[in-house]
Amino acid sequence: MKQNGLDKYLKSFLEQESLFKNKKVFQSNFVPPELLHRDDQQEQIAGILAPGLKGQKPSNLFIYGKTGTGKTLTIKYVTQKLRELAEQRGIPLKIIYLNCKLKKVADTEYRLIAQLAKEFGKEIPSTGLPTDEVYNIFYSVIDKQPQIIIIILDELDQLISKTGDEILYNLTRINSELQHTQISLVGISNDIRLVDYLDQRVKSSLSEEELIFSPYNALQIKAILHQRTEEAFNPGVIGQGVIEKCAALAAKEHGDARRALELLRVAAEVAEREKSDKVTLDHLDKAEGKIERDRILDILASQPQQCQAVMYAILKINENKTDSLFTGEVYDTYKKICDQTGLRPLTQRRVSDIIAELDLLGIIHARVISKGRYGRTREINVSFSQIENAKHVLEQGLNLV
Ligand code: ADP
Ligand code: MG
Repeated sequence: MKQNGLDKYLKSFLEQESLFKNKKVFQSNFVPPELLHRDDQQEQIAGILAPGLKGQKPSNLFIYGKTGTGKTLTIKYVTQKLRELAEQRGIPLKIIYLNCKLKKVADTEYRLIAQLAKEFGKEIPSTGLPTDEVYNIFYSVIDKQPQIIIIILDELDQLISKTGDEILYNLTRINSELQHTQISLVGISNDIRLVDYLDQRVKSSLSEEELIFSPYNALQIKAILHQRTEEAFNPGVIGQGVIEKCAALAAKEHGDARRALELLRVAAEVAEREKSDKVTLDHLDKAEGKIERDRILDILASQPQQCQAVMYAILKINENKTDSLFTGEVYDTYKKICDQTGLRPLTQRRVSDIIAELDLLGIIHARVISKGRYGRTREINVSFSQIENAKHVLEQGLNLV
């Protein structure tokens, strides 16, 4: 853009009225005025944790359900109420919420316990002490006077995949080390299979109570979108059928309210960029494409380097070819990339496995075809557009830039 073109663009941007009345309602920490369709779960959680208000240890609770089914929001609603009551009446109940996805807070057992101690006002150096010592400090801080502590570990699957389940074993045993205080654990997982990975003893003590959040259906997501729309946009901004389609798309996925809200936000951003005064179905389609492309770039960025090298080889060959490519040529180019980057080349068989994985991730289409007595190969097609961006992501991952 020429200098005066840029100037003009930014000025007209300033003059353009935003389609959003309040964009903050799309941020992940926003708490909507009302929790819809989760009365049962609210009641059950409240029923399980309420004994804490009377100085009795609540049962441990294990909650699971796919992403965007309202687990985090529901637990926040219930614990907020419990906290208020405890505070008003001077009840010694302390509720701590930790999201295990946050790096530096919960990526090692040491850090997690240090973070818990910090919640009680005790700073522990971020490295250096033996883990036993960290536990002892934590015990002494919380055990000064009798209290009930509820520790909520959200996105627990992330923690377990990083540290293993020993930490949960230790946490579920804490009460035997304490004289006055009692601790209850609430674990929340997006991955339903988490329980299968856990040690039997951990599993049975963590899931004294269990609660499943099932996916929302299209009608429920529609209600959630309507509620958010009222806060987010001026009346009339969202065009006919947009919310319905948004809800239908998200319900088809897996009843994910987060995805539905993201779709609506991105559709409105697309509309705004096109200087439209309404969000239409066309904007929604574009938003869907954009989110999908971003998803692919995210996946590529998070793959191990070997996988990135294979994908980079595929994109490199694809540049100069109009028809499909085959495992053999990918392997030759892959080996050259290994030379360039100092990676140790894997066997062709392993590379073939990686190609199958990339297919499973939906990044490429790889069809196995038989070449008669020459054995089998895979016919590969790249299944997304944004090739240049993808190459850039991979070059960064492989330190080629
Ligand atoms: P989870 O923790 O299960 O992945 P969240 O609780 O983070 O899901 O919900 C995802 C998004 O959808 C959040 O923005 C949340 O505010 C919204 N949401 C989920 N359930 C409801 C609901 N019942 N009512 C209103 N908003 C909801
Ligand atoms: Mg959550």
